[in-house]
Amino acid sequence: MEVGFLGLGIMGKAMALNLLRNGFKVTVWNRTLSKCDELVEHGASVGETPAAVIKKCKYTIAILSDPSAAFSVVFDKDGVLEEICNGKGYIDMSTVDAETSSKISKAITEKGGYFLEAPVSGSKKPAEDGQLVILAAGEKTLYDEVIPAFDVLGKKSFFLGQIGNGAKMKLVINMIMGSMMNALSEGLVLAERSGLEQQKLLDILDLGGIANPMFKQKGPAMIQGSFPPAFPLKHQQKDMRLALALGDENAVAMPVAAAANEAFKKARSLGLGDKDFSAVYEVVKVLQHSAGKS
Ligand code: NAP
Repeated sequence: MEVGFLGLGIMGKAMALNLLRNGFKVTVWNRTLSKCDELVEHGASVGETPAAVIKKCKYTIAILSDPSAAFSVVFDKDGVLEEICNGKGYIDMSTVDAETSSKISKAITEKGGYFLEAPVSGSKKPAEDGQLVILAAGEKTLYDEVIPAFDVLGKKSFFLGQIGNGAKMKLVINMIMGSMMNALSEGLVLAERSGLEQQKLLDILDLGGIANPMFKQKGPAMIQGSFPPAFPLKHQQKDMRLALALGDENAVAMPVAAAANEAFKKARSLGLGDKDFSAVYEVVKVLQHSAGKS
């Protein structure tokens, strides 16, 4: 199977490499073209523009940072829309809001193409290991056709129905995740300030009903003050913002998520946007420090 791949960030690079390793022919494009070099070493071809990739491939996957990047790759000059046509499928795996996804879907289908939104749950390591969870919605025929690729990229795929459902499910999940990361950060600070060993807290958490892989994976590095980006904090804040907007639309009060969003915004203002989202711990520490002084 031949696929195009647009966007070679943390997730896209790992996913495209996985497809290559599993025998797919892959044609890649990235805004910063030099990021294609490593993929070429593993057998990928390069398309000079998104339009060139679409022209060459029946199916093209994209995973880009945010709604504005997803729009730009589709609607700008040399973008997807210039070559999408009857029989070609476009699969956007970026985390965006349902409105963004619907606008892209409409534009693609008006030109005769098929569209699927398919955001993913799971971070850098699951992407490398082909263990993502895929939350697809849109054109069911296209979903069925690209299952061989999804089986390489993920451990489980869901088809959630009409366009927007995949985007919304992903935002709900990341809203919960961002709130949990803030709770863990507060817990780590509270433990330290009240004279407890932080590692002991993690060990005890891991034995009970709120044990989870995220606390286990991120906790020890957080204590060390180490935040190598697996899921960049700026993207987590984007997801909190989009989830809160979904809450607005549906009149759902989310005071916990709103407070977590403020902490992620503060982290961005402190220049932590490109660190892992667990770096919000630094903000919680600073806030406690200032409070202690007054
Ligand atoms: P990333 O490392 O920041 O990569 C972002 C990608 O988007 C890069 O290829 C970047 O190109 C491209 N891009 C940004 N602005 C663009 C524009 N205006 N036009 C064209 N391309 C543009 O992000 P990531 O971690 O791979 O995440 C990608 C998406 O997956 C995001 O929606 C994120 O929320 C979602 N996601 C991430 C994770 C994770 O753990 N990392 C997990 C699940 C979902 P350049 O290289 O030129 O900058």
